[in-house]
Amino acid sequence: MYDIVADCSDNVPTRYLVNDACVLSGKTLVSASALRMEGQLTVYNYHGGPCYRCIFPKPPPPETVTNCSDGGVLGVVPGIMGCLQALEILKIASGQGSSCGQQLLMFDAQDAKFRTIRLRPKQNSCAVCGENPTVTHLVDYEVFCGSAATDKCRRLNLLSKDQRVTVQDYKSILDRSDFHLLLDVRPLVEVDICHLPSSLNIPLSSLENKKCDHIQVLKERIRQVKEQMSSEAQVPVYVICKLGNDSQKAVKVLEKMSGSEVDFVSVKDICGGLMAWSQKIDPLFPQY
Ligand SMILES: [Zn+2]
Repeated sequence: MYDIVADCSDNVPTRYLVNDACVLSGKTLVSASALRMEGQLTVYNYHGGPCYRCIFPKPPPPETVTNCSDGGVLGVVPGIMGCLQALEILKIASGQGSSCGQQLLMFDAQDAKFRTIRLRPKQNSCAVCGENPTVTHLVDYEVFCGSAATDKCRRLNLLSKDQRVTVQDYKSILDRSDFHLLLDVRPLVEVDICHLPSSLNIPLSSLENKKCDHIQVLKERIRQVKEQMSSEAQVPVYVICKLGNDSQKAVKVLEKMSGSEVDFVSVKDICGGLMAWSQKIDPLFPQY
């Protein structure tokens, strides 16, 4: 027997599964999450408040979700969120009650700040807790979300085969000293841990937001490689990240920029990223 459920999961399908199970069985759900330097806490399905689906009726596109495996998390942050989660559970269990039923508590570890935002109320149109629910039993949540119920080994497949090279292919490119630009799209904090020599670091977020100074640096580096190349061929740009997910997104962004914001380039993703490099090419390259 149990009365309160704590969601400590790390992926979207499991969050929907646990939410629906709690609504269908009438249990309160104390939900916490953490990513990088931020944490969030809410109590769902509590005293007439919203459920997770009321707030997030549709799962996000899988390629827009950053999980801890890709984005990283500072271990202390989930520790703090877990303690707060335990606190809310004890308050509810002891009858003191929680004030997180219709608000989201946000913790910013960088600025050492907590703030709360009020959530929208329970939605009459909600698919599981609304007036005419369409979800009346548990469904296949991996199909519903289009992603696996894990944050490990998540492999996006956004590109065609000819837009990708293996780490072995890239090693040959280095061995032949082919002119190219290696673009590392991880956040700077990860690049500081380890990076391949001569890579240019421009985080994916800067590419997506077309951050001016970063785009200028990119243009300049492409121009330098172009000068070194004797042919008129497009400058080959190879994009790398930790696991090969963000790099695929970056290839898509760069392809859109090619010929407009930057000179024409041929952009390819390095499959599996630096962790594949460490496993298959250079065992001394750090894994993190
Ligand atoms: Zn709902």
